[in-house]
Amino acid sequence: MRLSRYFLPLLRETPSEAQIVSHRLMLRAGMIRQEAAGIYAWLPLGFRVLQKIEQIVREEMDRAGAIEILMPTLQPSDLWKETGRYDAYGPEMLRIKDRHERELLYGPTNEDMITEIFRAYVKSYKALPLNLYHTQWKFRDEVRPRFGVMRGREFLMKDAYSFDIDQEAARRSYNRMYVAYLRAFTRMGITTIPMRAETGPIGGDLSHEFIVLAETGESEVFCHKDLLDMPVPGEDVDFNADLEPIVRQRTALYAATSDVHDAARFEAEVPPEKRVTARGIEVGQIFYFGTKYSVPMKAVVTGSDGKDVPIHGGSYGVGVSRLVGAIIEACHDDAGIVWPAPVAPFDVALINLKSGDAKTDAACNELYAKLTAAGKDVLYDDTDDRPGAKFASMDLIGLPTQIVVGPRGLEKGLVEVKSRATGAKEEMSLEAVLNKVTGP
Ligand code: ATP
Ligand code: MG
Repeated sequence: MRLSRYFLPLLRETPSEAQIVSHRLMLRAGMIRQEAAGIYAWLPLGFRVLQKIEQIVREEMDRAGAIEILMPTLQPSDLWKETGRYDAYGPEMLRIKDRHERELLYGPTNEDMITEIFRAYVKSYKALPLNLYHTQWKFRDEVRPRFGVMRGREFLMKDAYSFDIDQEAARRSYNRMYVAYLRAFTRMGITTIPMRAETGPIGGDLSHEFIVLAETGESEVFCHKDLLDMPVPGEDVDFNADLEPIVRQRTALYAATSDVHDAARFEAEVPPEKRVTARGIEVGQIFYFGTKYSVPMKAVVTGSDGKDVPIHGGSYGVGVSRLVGAIIEACHDDAGIVWPAPVAPFDVALINLKSGDAKTDAACNELYAKLTAAGKDVLYDDTDDRPGAKFASMDLIGLPTQIVVGPRGLEKGLVEVKSRATGAKEEMSLEAVLNKVTGP
C-alpha cells in the first residue's frame, strides 16, 4: 500500500478524552473513530488488526474442531423469555421494537439462539460432541463505556458453544477450548493467564477468564509466577487426545482475580518469591454451564440407551475488538505501538527519504514490488514529508520492520533496516534486505 493513496488520518495532538495509553495510541494512529459513546468506526489500519486477530482465533477454533457459523446481531425476545434471561439481563440489553411492535434485542451474547438452532436439528447423541462458533458484533449498554475499544458498548466477540451428552464429555469440550485459547493468545504475541472466575449471568459452575497482565487492567489479579512462563502447546497438539493434564498443570497453580481471590490459600500455596499481584485485562472467558439452557429450552437428544437427556453446554468468548487495545497495552513504548508481528497491520514499513529522486524512487519501487510479490504486506511511505516526520509516524503505528531508503545510502548500494521492537539498525544491500525480510 502506498501511503499517498492510503487513508491514515494520524493525529499530532494527544487526544484529551483518552485516559489510557492504548486508547490514546489508537486515536493518534488513526485506527478508530468514536461515533457515539462506546461505539466506534474502524478505520483502515485498525480494521486490519481486527481482522488479523479474528483470523488467528478462527484458525485455532477450527483446529480444535469447532465449526464456524454466523448468527444475526438482532434476536427475537421470545428465545430470551424461554430461558428467563429477558428479564434477568437488565438495562445492559438494548431492546428494540420493529414496525409490527415485535420485540427484538441487539444480542449481548448467543446462548439462547444457539440452543434454539441446536434443538431444531440435533436429535441423537451420535451428532455429539458439537461446537459451533461465530464472530459477531455484540451490544451491551455498559453504564460506563471507557478506555476506547476495551470497554465499548458495541464490540466484536468470537463466541463458541459446545454441546455434549454428559458432564464428562462437556469437560473434554471445555478443555479443548481452554487449550485453543492458550494457543490463540500466544500466537498474537501476548501472555495470558487462565484465572478461576465467577460465572455471572451466563450461569454454571466452572469458568476461567484469560487475563493479560497490564497496569491499566480493570481487575486485580493474584497468581503463581510460574504460570507466566509455562510452555503453551504447539501446532502439533492433538485435540482428540486427553487434554486434562495440560489444564490440570495450570489449575494446580494458584491464579484468581479479585472476585474469587482467597488470600489465605494464596499465602499457603504460593511461596513469597513466587507471588504475583498485578492488574489484568480480561480478553476471554470460558464457561461450563451444564443444563442451564437445555432444560428450559428442551434441547434434548436421545442417548445410546434410547432415553432422552438434556445436553450439557458450555460457552466460550473472546473479546476480539478488546484485544486490539489489550495488545497495545502490553506492547508499546514512548514512541508508539510495537505490534507483535502476527497481528501487525502491515509487515514492513518502507520509507523513502527523498521522494522524487529518480534513484531512490527506483530502489523503493523495486523493494516494494519484490516484497509484495513475496507475500509481505508493505506500507510504502512515498509522500514528500520530512524524514523526521516519516520516522515518527512509522514508530507510532509500530510495524515490526522498517526499511529506510535514501540517496546517501544508495550511493554505497545500501539501505537501513530497523527493528521496531529492539530499535536495532543495520545497513545492508537491497538483496540482503529482501532475503532478511522474506526469509524464514
Ligand atoms: P467484563 O467483565 O469485562 O465486563 P464480561 O465478563 O461481561 O466482561 P463475557 O460475557 O465473558 O464478558 O464476554 C466475553 C469477552 O468479551 C470478554 O472476555 C471480553 O474480552 C469481551 N467483552 C465483554 N464486554 C466487553 C465490552 N463492553 N467491550 C469490549 N469487549 C468486551
Ligand atoms: Mg467475562
